[in-house]
Amino acid sequence: MQDKIYKIKGKVQHYAWGGYDFIPHLLSIHNAEHKPYAEYWLGAHALHTSEIILDDGSCISLYDFIQANPEFTLSNKVFSVFGELPFLLKVLDVREMLSIQVHPTKANALKGFENEENAGIPINAPHRNYRDKNHKPEVMVALSDEFWLLHGFKSLNAIEATLANTTELSILLPLFKKQGLKALYQFVMEMEQADVNAMLHTLVRKELHKKATGQLTKFDAGWWVAKLFENSDELKNIDRGIFSIYFFNIVCLKKGEGIFQQAGVPHAYLEGQNVELMANSDNVLRAGLTPKHIDVAELLKHTIIEPIIPEVLLGKPITLHSPESEYRCPVSDFALNKIQWQGTKQYETVAATPEIILAVEGGFIIQDNTGKNKVIKQGEACFITPNTEYKINSSGSVQLFKAFVPVL
Ligand SMILES: [Zn+2]
Repeated sequence: MQDKIYKIKGKVQHYAWGGYDFIPHLLSIHNAEHKPYAEYWLGAHALHTSEIILDDGSCISLYDFIQANPEFTLSNKVFSVFGELPFLLKVLDVREMLSIQVHPTKANALKGFENEENAGIPINAPHRNYRDKNHKPEVMVALSDEFWLLHGFKSLNAIEATLANTTELSILLPLFKKQGLKALYQFVMEMEQADVNAMLHTLVRKELHKKATGQLTKFDAGWWVAKLFENSDELKNIDRGIFSIYFFNIVCLKKGEGIFQQAGVPHAYLEGQNVELMANSDNVLRAGLTPKHIDVAELLKHTIIEPIIPEVLLGKPITLHSPESEYRCPVSDFALNKIQWQGTKQYETVAATPEIILAVEGGFIIQDNTGKNKVIKQGEACFITPNTEYKINSSGSVQLFKAFVPVL
C-alpha cells in the first residue's frame, strides 16, 4: 500500500536579486559560496519539481509520481478540473527589487497563448508573452517583520500631489489633469528612451542625495529609486519603471499579513521575505525595472489602470480559537492557511485535496490515519494525498504554511 503522506524537498532558484542568508538558514544549508538564494519552490512544476524523500533516503520526482498516480495524488475532482497539481508554493527572499509585472486573466492567457502559437513565435523566444494557457493569481504572506511591495495605482489625488510636488515630473501634470491616468501611464510607457533619460536624470540624482542625507523613508518613492541606483556610477538608459514607483501604492506588510494579487493588478516586490502561493503558470507581462522585453501594447490591454486600495489579509482563524488561519483568495486553484501555536499541542484535521505543508518555524510530527509517522523539521515540507485524516504534534513555537486546493 502506498503512503498517504510524503516528505518532500524543493528546488532553490539562485536569481541575482535573492538574499544570501534567509533561505540557507531555513534549509540548514551553509552558503559558503555566498550565492544568492532567491526562491525555494515546493510543487510539481514540470521543469523544477520537488522530490519525494522515501524512507530509505532515496528520492523520486513528485511530478513523475503525480503523473503515474493522478487520482491517488490529486483526487478525481482536482485531476479532472486541472489535470495537474494546480499550485506552486514558494519562499522568497527579496534583496533587490523585482521587475514590475502584471498577470493576465485565464481567458486572456488562453487567447494570448493561441495568438502567439498561430503567429509561430517559439515558446522560449524572449519576446514571447504567453508561455502557457493559464492565469497566475498570487497570494503572499510576510515572513520578515516588514515586507515592502508596489501594488496597483494609488489614488488620483495622491498621484496629482506627487506630480505637483516633484519638479521633474510636474511637466506631466497638465496631461494627467486633462486626459487622466490612462493617458499619463501610456505616455510614460511609450516615451522615447532619450526623453525618459532627460526627465529622470536630475530626479534620480536628487533622490540619491536625499536618501544619503536621511531625508527619505521607505514610504517615499524616492527611497526605492535611490536604492536602485546607489551602487551604479553612471545613469544611462534609466528604466521607465521608475515612473511606476511614483504612481503605485507602496505597501508595507507586517509579519503574518498577506496580500492577493489578482489578474491585471501591477505589482513589484521591493524587499523582505515571504511565503508565496500561485497558480502553476509562467505568464508574466513586464512593466519595468527589467532588462527583459516589454510589450507595451499588450501590457496596457491587461493592466488595471485605475486606483486600487490595497486589501491587507490578516489571516482569520478558520473556527474560533483554531490554530489554523486562512488568507482567503477568490480563486479555485489554491488556498493558503497558516497553522501556528506555542507550547505542546496536537492538532487534528483532514486533507480533502492534495496539500503541501512547510515548516517555517519549528518542526512537527505528522501521523496519518494508519498510524504512520513522519518527522518534519524546520525548513522541511510534506505532501499529503487527498482524503487523509492526520494529526500534527509539536512542542515549542511552530509556524506552518499549508497550501491546498479549496473544495470544489
Ligand atoms: Zn507576480
